[in-house]
Amino acid sequence: MSSTEVGAGLAVDTPPGRVLLASNNAKKLAELRRVVEAAGITGLQVLGLGDVEAYPEPVEDGATFEENALLKAREAVARTGLPALADDSGLAVDALNGMPGVLSARWSGGKGDEANNDLLLAQLADVPAERRGAAFVSVCALVTPGGEDATARGEWRGRIVVERRGAGGFGYDPLFVPDDDLAAGRTSAELSAAEKDSLSHRGKALAKLVPVLRSLAAPDA
Ligand code: IMP
Repeated sequence: MSSTEVGAGLAVDTPPGRVLLASNNAKKLAELRRVVEAAGITGLQVLGLGDVEAYPEPVEDGATFEENALLKAREAVARTGLPALADDSGLAVDALNGMPGVLSARWSGGKGDEANNDLLLAQLADVPAERRGAAFVSVCALVTPGGEDATARGEWRGRIVVERRGAGGFGYDPLFVPDDDLAAGRTSAELSAAEKDSLSHRGKALAKLVPVLRSLAAPDA
């Protein structure tokens, strides 16, 4: 199977005009639709998993974000015959040598976001402010029914604070202060959805895939 870094576009062997986001996350679906609209791409319907026949999600057992994003997108293509986009993301903490990384969602053994945040705070309890750097990482993969794929990576640098702040977002957002917003010092859980979209790892990765998404649109729309 061929694999392409983001480029001009992928050859598609099904009727153009549709792409499936292989995620049950409504916020990610809304974000992808905003990206497509903001890029002025017409003639491309963005479908979610709720729009296709249900199938069991594959086990995310890849060693890298790229592997996990590709396995989710390939499974969606195999199940539906549609071009599919999937993302895999996580938090890479400098003082933990890049962990939790691909294990971010399951860092506390599957006990959820609150337990993940508690564990991370405990692990960093003695780490001074100047060594609390971290990055959110997102890799988005787009796979066509013809077996071609493109991947794009986005990173968002920041630091981990010592206690939670903010009620927005999800996951590790209450503990992450992006470098972009250091003057205000807000965590990503204190940013509006629009602010987070414009800065975030996922926003950056999706923006890189715009040329490929454009190539999937119906030409006469
Ligand atoms: P997934 O790619 O949706 O499976 O996300 C993996 C995990 O990474 C999530 O469960 C969160 O713990 C973390 N994560 C990924 N992106 C974000 C984000 O934008 N904010 C906070 N946590 C995130």
